[in-house]
Amino acid sequence: MKTFALILLAALSVGAQTPPAAPQKKAANGPPPEAGDDVRGYNDTPKLPGQKWKVHDMERPRPVKVTPAPYVQEGPPADAVVLFDGKDLSQWTSQGRGGVAQETKWKVENGYIEIVPRTGKLVTKEKFGDCQLHVEWLVPKESVGNGQGIGNSGVELMTRYEVQVLESYEHQTYADGGAGAIYGVWPPLVNPSRPMGEWNVYDIFFEAPRFDGEKLARPAYMTVVFNGVLVQNHKEFLGTTIWRRVGTYAPHPAEQPLSLQDHSQPVRFRNIWIRRLNNNQQ
Ligand code: MG
Repeated sequence: MKTFALILLAALSVGAQTPPAAPQKKAANGPPPEAGDDVRGYNDTPKLPGQKWKVHDMERPRPVKVTPAPYVQEGPPADAVVLFDGKDLSQWTSQGRGGVAQETKWKVENGYIEIVPRTGKLVTKEKFGDCQLHVEWLVPKESVGNGQGIGNSGVELMTRYEVQVLESYEHQTYADGGAGAIYGVWPPLVNPSRPMGEWNVYDIFFEAPRFDGEKLARPAYMTVVFNGVLVQNHKEFLGTTIWRRVGTYAPHPAEQPLSLQDHSQPVRFRNIWIRRLNNNQQ
């Protein structure tokens, strides 16, 4: 939705150059300035069910910064599906606006993938449900911006359930929107971000939601280890993650692709592998 709002703002600014100038209208889903912004957070958003906070609550305490564990090259284990080994995007496709499948324009160089902004998200060809996922990401040193506008991408399980990727070493944003956040729902327990130009590591343990026909039978859960530090401990998703709103569930198949978000900023990724978790022991 944030992307939509930016497009809308861009469209409005283009429109503003066209005479005769119509009275300026506030973007339909954009908040007034006094309601906050992506650096401070917001005070006009809905309350999160089961929590005392609002979505992106400006009063919600920011996660405390901690020194990360030393970087250790991990995996892939023998039973992992290697999604990116530094060479090519053969495991991936792309999705443009409206979910239209297209060839990806993201580039591969020096052993990493780099987002080519505004070309659409990167989507796996294979589909996954419950899984263990390893992803390394880096915000280029020369990046500029603030709030949600620097190093913003995201690891989207089932293309819907986002753990945020953002430059959070020196830049501020609302608590539930920084790196390691279950976007718009749960801030990370602490903030072990590394500086721009250094690789960050996510180890994600995900339980897909279960549906009984149209009804939600069990929500999605996620555990996240960020640079060797536990930041999400089996936390529940309220539905598809979304800017300034409470997410809701819509039934979907048991397995769906994994995606990396294109939020118009050049973030890099490497060493991506995933293990399907079978629940035979349950
Ligand atoms: Mg994001």
